[in-house]
Amino acid sequence: MSTALLEIQDLRVAYGKIEAVKGISFSVARGEVTTLIGTNGAGKTTTLRTLSGLLRPTSGSITFDGERLDTVPAHKIVALGLAHSPEGRHIFPRMTIEENLLLGAFLRKDQAGITEDVERAYTLFPILGERRKQAAGTLSGGEQQMLAMGRALMSRPKLLMLDEPSMGLSPIMMQKIMATIIELKSGGTTILLVEQNAQAALSLSDRGYVMQTGQIVLTGTGAELLNDESVRKSYLGED
Ligand code: ATP
Repeated sequence: MSTALLEIQDLRVAYGKIEAVKGISFSVARGEVTTLIGTNGAGKTTTLRTLSGLLRPTSGSITFDGERLDTVPAHKIVALGLAHSPEGRHIFPRMTIEENLLLGAFLRKDQAGITEDVERAYTLFPILGERRKQAAGTLSGGEQQMLAMGRALMSRPKLLMLDEPSMGLSPIMMQKIMATIIELKSGGTTILLVEQNAQAALSLSDRGYVMQTGQIVLTGTGAELLNDESVRKSYLGED
């Protein structure tokens, strides 16, 4: 069996007549952290939404754990083991933190396992445990990001996709999120990360892909991309 958990071939996605993803191919190896970087509008979010089944490709193939995903409905994709923590978090502010977490387990029936995973989320993010009965809307931005990640983990995914987890966070919160990604990886979760903060993301990535106007223009290990002159100029703010 191939080591790739996710394999994308020549994927194209359009909004009406506007093609946002123009024939990209990439893969995510089992047990690794893979990052997509790129400027605003490059097509990163569109790619993740397509992998989750929220958008349909116009052509190309998505193979996840040996199965074709490109025509599978979104809820079945979650059941197959692919979870998505979306950009902007989308937590439910009036529901409690614990209720938000439980929503992430909506397809599961194993009560004991669910309880165990709620506790695991509280171990990973103690602040969520301390405030479990409070409305999620009272959490800070960084804490809401933790809740979104905790909720995505409640489906026990084989692949966790994180869209801009550090957006709007203080440096300390961002470090916490990045440390959590490393912790999840050591626990065996495969991660596909989309990040504006290229330095932080590439530092912890096994492989990265650079997207520009709907195409992949460069790939390499995290270290190779961090040392690449064009990446340093365009994404790491160097002259
Ligand atoms: P960002 O980091 O700003 O979120 P991105 O790389 O995630 O950028 P996308 O959000 O995937 O980029 O957008 C890719 C392109 O598709 C952009 O040109 C964007 O304007 C366009 N686009 C995104 N969503 C829609 C939509 N619902 N309708 C029409 N065009 C869209």
